[in-house]
Parts: sequence; structure tokens; C-alpha cells
Amino acid sequence: RASALIWMTLLGACRNLGEIQRGEMALNYISLLEPDNGAPYILLSNIYATNGRWNDVKMLRETMVQRGVKKRPGCSMIEVNDEIHRFFPRDQWHPDCKAIYAKLDTLNSQLKEQGYVPDTRLVLHDVDEEKKKSIICCHSERLALSFGLINTPSKTPLLIVKNLRMCADCHTVFKLLSIILDRTINLKDANRFHCFHNGQCSCEDYW
Ligand code: ZN
Ligand code: ZN
Repeated sequence: RASALIWMTLLGACRNLGEIQRGEMALNYISLLEPDNGAPYILLSNIYATNGRWNDVKMLRETMVQRGVKKRPGCSMIEVNDEIHRFFPRDQWHPDCKAIYAKLDTLNSQLKEQGYVPDTRLVLHDVDEEKKKSIICCHSERLALSFGLINTPSKTPLLIVKNLRMCADCHTVFKLLSIILDRTINLKDANRFHCFHNGQCSCEDYW
């Protein structure tokens, strides 16, 4: 009998392949096995959004409200100098906040030079394009990464742990940064380990 994690993995594969019907089936199974889990709803919303099915995104959000399912906030952790640092999306409270966002700006410029354009379709908030870009560029794992880069010698491999599944845009960014920065970045998300190295990820884009 498939566990919720197996269905979640199938749902992730459906996102890669644009398989909407199978994705909906996977969500139904997950919602029976883990009724409080908001992650599959977000993932299916991403599939709808990348296919321009905004009405379905809206209906799925309403289903979440009806079923009392909440989206947990993302949280990423990184250990630097024997201390664990925690980051939430668009965090402003960290003492090194200024330096972290300055580093993030530098990274964004480097990414842009490589042709990266943020995939704002993954942002499900009803806000303008610029705001969407700023939301996706401040996901918790990117803040944890910036902090790790500031506080470790160049080329040191980094390990980040995230409570939710990382989004497809952050996945693309981490692959690109592993080349740009010549660093191995390991990230354990809610689904699996990702080892970003030389522009590739060990998950081969299935997670
Ligand atoms: Zn992300
Ligand atoms: Zn991966």
C-alpha cells in the first residue's frame, strides 16, 4: 500500500510532466492518508498555475479552507560555527539581516547574467509581478544559503534542512548557483536529499 510520501513523489513527478489528472488523483489519496497536510494542495496549485488554470487554483484554495487545511510556513535551518540558524520566508529579524539581503541581491545579479528569470507562476498570491519576484527570491532556503555563504570560506559545502518541499524555482536557482559559486550545496527538504553540484541535482529533478 503506497504511503503519503509515495503519493507525494508521484504528485511531484506530475508537476514535472504537467499531468493534471494523475496529480488530482494523488492529492485525493494524500488527503485521505494525511488530512492536515497542506503541502500537496500547494503542489497541485503549482501544477494548475503553470498550466494557466487559475480558476482551479482558486477552487483548490477554497477546498483547503473548507477542509481546514493550513499551509505551514516554510522554515530552513543551517548550522554555522556550531550554531543552528533558522530562517522563515522574507525574514527580517536575523541580526545579520542587512548582509544576508545584500548577498541575496548579488546572487540575483549573478543569476540574471546566466539568463535566470524567476518563475513567478509558482507564487500563488494575488499580487503584482514585481512583488511575486520579491516573494520567490526570499524563500527561506535562499536566506539560509546567503547566510551560509557569508559565514563560510569559499568552496565549503553547505547543508540546509527545510521543513517543506523546496519549490521548482529554488531548485533551479540552487543548481545554477552550484556552478556560479563552485560549491556543493546539500539540501534536505520534506521529501528527500538534494545534492547540488556542478549545475545538477542528485534527484535528477524528481522530488
Ligand atoms: Zn522556493
Ligand atoms: Zn533535487
